[in-house]
Amino acid sequence: QVSDSLYIINKFAQQFFTEVLFNTDEGNNAGLSYLKERGFREEIIKKFELGYNPEARDTFAKVATNAQFNESLLQKSGLVVARENGLQDNYRGRIIFPIHNQTGKIAGFGARLIRNNDKAPKYINTPENEIYVKSKILYGSYFARQAIDKADECLLVEGYTDVLALHQAGIENAVASGGTSLTPDQLRLIKKYTQNLTILYDGDNAGIKAALRGLDLALEEGLNVQLVLLPNQEDPDSYINKNGVAAFNAFIKENKKDFILFQLEHALKDAGDDTNKRSHAVNQVAETISKINKAEEFTKQQDYIHKTAQLLNIDESGLHNLVNKYIRE
Ligand code: ATP
Ligand code: MN
Ligand code: MN
Ligand code: MN
Repeated sequence: QVSDSLYIINKFAQQFFTEVLFNTDEGNNAGLSYLKERGFREEIIKKFELGYNPEARDTFAKVATNAQFNESLLQKSGLVVARENGLQDNYRGRIIFPIHNQTGKIAGFGARLIRNNDKAPKYINTPENEIYVKSKILYGSYFARQAIDKADECLLVEGYTDVLALHQAGIENAVASGGTSLTPDQLRLIKKYTQNLTILYDGDNAGIKAALRGLDLALEEGLNVQLVLLPNQEDPDSYINKNGVAAFNAFIKENKKDFILFQLEHALKDAGDDTNKRSHAVNQVAETISKINKAEEFTKQQDYIHKTAQLLNIDESGLHNLVNKYIRE
């Protein structure tokens, strides 16, 4: 009941924001020109139903109240907040990214400032409610489903604009986690479509950390995980804008790394010549390999033990015992 009303409010709001973006001076001058400067074309803007919320205090709040939407539901949707002088728009002067669930209904919104500044966060998102549960949603999944199925691979990126840039470039099997690390529910959602996950996180420390955090979870879900780290300070959107989609595809092909081997190399690089740290790295990787722990994946596990032993130049049976120790724990 509440859920149904929230979906209706969200659809109403999206239609309003899209209308403002395309058919008002402010929407054109602030919103649409910003998106076009960034290289997004009308076709992709319309497909993802982007919009713009005006700067003024309560443009949307008034429209929604006039349309008889209930105040407390409006607040629950996160589109407005209650202030002493009445309801106020929450996403003033921001580009609106509707967040569709797998069935194409709008569960929430991400809202981006036109110009970054220090006073306000770059993005604001819908607060958790009956229909917006962040840990269960992957941005773009509704538009990516068929392509994921066809390619038998899901590309996971960090941001909304990365999804837009990839889809616009014809790479439609891309979804975004929304900046946070992957949750078990998101991994299960991916697994409904494919076993093969390629993570394309931003080339910064936050990106690397987020990627490593997702690894054990993904292995426990039985996914095959590959990882590509983009060059320093780039994300898929900026990379494609700078270098074009052909260069992007080539970069991915060349730099795709198996997740476990990525973890190992990362740990070894940190360890340097320090014997203790190296042995800690080996233990860490053995523990990760132990997560591939289902009967049907036995071969995969043996494979990793073999590859890792080679890479480290250590005894394979010793590594085997170590992995078994973690399996028993
Ligand atoms: P843009 O290209 O517009 O700057 P981005 O996606 O590259 O966007 P990042 O800073 O790389 O932005 O963040 C990745 C994702 O993390 C965003 O798309 C957004 O979903 C989420 N995010 C970023 N900053 C915030 C924030 N302040 N609050 C909530 N979520 C955020
Ligand atoms: Mn980033
Ligand atoms: Mn970006
Ligand atoms: Mn980014």
